[in-house]
Amino acid sequence: MQKEDNLKEVISHAKEYGFVFPSSEIYDGLSATYDYGQLGSELKNNIKSYWWKSMVQMHDNIVGIDSAIFMHPTVWKASGHVDAFNDPLIDNKDSKKRYRADVLIEDHIEKYIQKIDKEVKKGIKRFGDDFDVEQFKATNPNVLRNKAKIEEIEERMRETLGKNDLEGVYNLIVDLGIVCPISGTKNWTEVRQFNLMFSTELGSVAGDAAKIYLRPETAQGIFVNFLNVQKTGRMKIPFGIAQIGKAFRNEIVARQFIFRMREFEQMEMQFFVRPGEEMKWYEYWKDQRIKWHNKLGLGEDNYRFHDHVKLAHYANAAADIEFNFPMGFKELEGIHSRTDFDLKQHEEYSGKKLQYFDPELNKNYVPYVVETSIGLDRMFLAVLSSSFKNETLEDASERAVLSLPPALAPYKVAVMPLTRKDGLPEKAREVLDTLKYDFNCQYDEKDSPGKRYRRQDAIGTPYCVMIDHQTLEDNTVTIRDRDTMKQDRVSIEELRGMISSKVSFMTLLK
Ligand code: ATP
Repeated sequence: MQKEDNLKEVISHAKEYGFVFPSSEIYDGLSATYDYGQLGSELKNNIKSYWWKSMVQMHDNIVGIDSAIFMHPTVWKASGHVDAFNDPLIDNKDSKKRYRADVLIEDHIEKYIQKIDKEVKKGIKRFGDDFDVEQFKATNPNVLRNKAKIEEIEERMRETLGKNDLEGVYNLIVDLGIVCPISGTKNWTEVRQFNLMFSTELGSVAGDAAKIYLRPETAQGIFVNFLNVQKTGRMKIPFGIAQIGKAFRNEIVARQFIFRMREFEQMEMQFFVRPGEEMKWYEYWKDQRIKWHNKLGLGEDNYRFHDHVKLAHYANAAADIEFNFPMGFKELEGIHSRTDFDLKQHEEYSGKKLQYFDPELNKNYVPYVVETSIGLDRMFLAVLSSSFKNETLEDASERAVLSLPPALAPYKVAVMPLTRKDGLPEKAREVLDTLKYDFNCQYDEKDSPGKRYRRQDAIGTPYCVMIDHQTLEDNTVTIRDRDTMKQDRVSIEELRGMISSKVSFMTLLK
């Protein structure tokens, strides 16, 4: 299946089964905003729980907060967002489509990465297990040529974007011969900067005096509460503060479903460390985060690290974890070493000391910060798109299945009576009542068992429990596994333990 078609299928499946709807759909929707439906919000909550538990519950030196979306406007002056939270935009005069100039260039670089991958795959196919990928990459002339090209482009990106040289960015696009994917022409406008923050007015006063912003990241809510949490929680460095919450960005281009939205959710953790120790913690968190992803079993090949070409104004090291989305490898999470930039800026703008007294060193300092920042909606898309499959079964029939990691599935178990008579529905309700305190369950008695199983496969329910006539005699039921489609006969008493061992968050956290 073509990757683009795969995205379309995921979008229509998400809508058909109540995962994601276009926002205000009866008014034809609002661009780049989406609503999560009855199953989507369950899946989203489960992703949040997995992140929160692994950060807060599994680390005794990390605590969580929930700060307000509205913040004092000076926060955004201090953080640099008012002056520098910009994206360079460029328009194609023929298609009238707008693009982010840096993304156009990155997409161009991706073509060279694909060429290298293709060469490597050819080698693996030819030489099998004996093939030394690293050596091949270091010596093959085609690979080296493409690598050199990538380095040359990245160097020019660093030069131009780093110095805010917009004409240089334009020249780079022209020199690379980048064409508009829609019109196919090189008829570009100049490159302009565009601030991504949404603003509104506080209270009844209009005008600049009352101008406030919808937060473009959750991190600043953590920085301004650094001392509150440290003091009240008696936290000792190193320690972290985690937060899940909405963020808003007036994105220039927002075309890829929930990948790039104007209102989205972030899961961020700021880890406060001793100055000079930030690189150790930066590596530690890169390792921890990729482990968190790999535990889900979405396929280790679907992830790759990408070091930032252009560092943000606050960072001294930064890498992205990219995921193989239906549109290709794109940023899913960022791990940034933010130095003491933010706390120092807030000290300066607020006039308040934001320092930590380190009893071991017997001195005060402004801590350094390593942050992990992941988009909840992008994680949702990663989970949904990689779990979605159309399978052809042995009997040539087809099934759409979401092989979601069981701990994340909206429903853990569907309880079904074989028929709607002979007391089976009543017995099924009884079984449901024993399970519903531990698991999110669905009761389903409509249509044939086969149809019901397909429905549950399509929404990713890991287990279906069928109550039949034998159940009335010996209190046993059949339990069907979503992935293997195998059915086993077990006693009702065993169900809770069996299901729990497969769907519990413990399977992911241990
Ligand atoms: P991009 O380069 O794709 O615009 P970014 O580097 O600006 O992303 P960060 O500021 O590092 O993103 O934000 C941290 C995380 O928040 C990202 O890794 C991503 O998962 C998520 N995120 C950022 N912007 C959006 C958006 N518009 N819609 C959905 N998620 C987003």
